[in-house]
Amino acid sequence: MNGTEWTTLCDNRGRPIDRTPGTGPEPWIWTGTRGGSTEPLAAPAHRTAVLFRCAGTLIADMPNNGDPGWVRPLPGAAAVVAAVRARGVAVGALVEEPGVARGLLSRAQVDLVRRRCEQLLGPFDVWAVCPHGEADGCACRRPAPGLVSAAHDCLAVPARRTTVIGSDPRDALAARAAGVAAVLVAPPTGRAGRVAGPIGPLAVVGLPAAAARALAAEPQAAGAPSVRPSQ
Ligand SMILES: [Zn+2]
Repeated sequence: MNGTEWTTLCDNRGRPIDRTPGTGPEPWIWTGTRGGSTEPLAAPAHRTAVLFRCAGTLIADMPNNGDPGWVRPLPGAAAVVAAVRARGVAVGALVEEPGVARGLLSRAQVDLVRRRCEQLLGPFDVWAVCPHGEADGCACRRPAPGLVSAAHDCLAVPARRTTVIGSDPRDALAARAAGVAAVLVAPPTGRAGRVAGPIGPLAVVGLPAAAARALAAEPQAAGAPSVRPSQ
């Protein structure tokens, strides 16, 4: 397995799941290899996982973008992901690309953009992509839990130690439905909680603060870098 391999769904130990064909549209899953290792990143050593919503949280939201040259990380995103990763925490990326269903994007383009994200933000343990449109009736579009569950199932981390970080209330709803925690990043100009409406207490201002909250209960190894809520 390598970092660009297209994989089937895998279980909580990284083993492929033999799904019955025709049971409904499935998300696309890439499992990565960190630092060029040939071992799956979904290693039992991971005690905690953070699943980042990609668009609007880590990179600028640019719907239907199939051009890697247009990928723009949001300020501080690379540093936050690096700090989380350096603590031995599994990191995942959640992507919705309904433009695929509308014929505006190909799977190859999604992969190119994904690879560019990894160049800019570093490797992720798992990528989960919903390529479906509203009419497809999939279980992975927010607020359904399928995308979160698919990513989480690839990581050997208990649900109670997994957190979704997003910037949309639907991220929190999907996380809740999947049985994992959520923290929402509110815009720096907004008040914490304002973005989230009925789930306002989940929202904090700034990605560093969101990551710090996600890792608040994570046992920290000696010398591990911190993720400071400095924003
Ligand atoms: Zn879907």
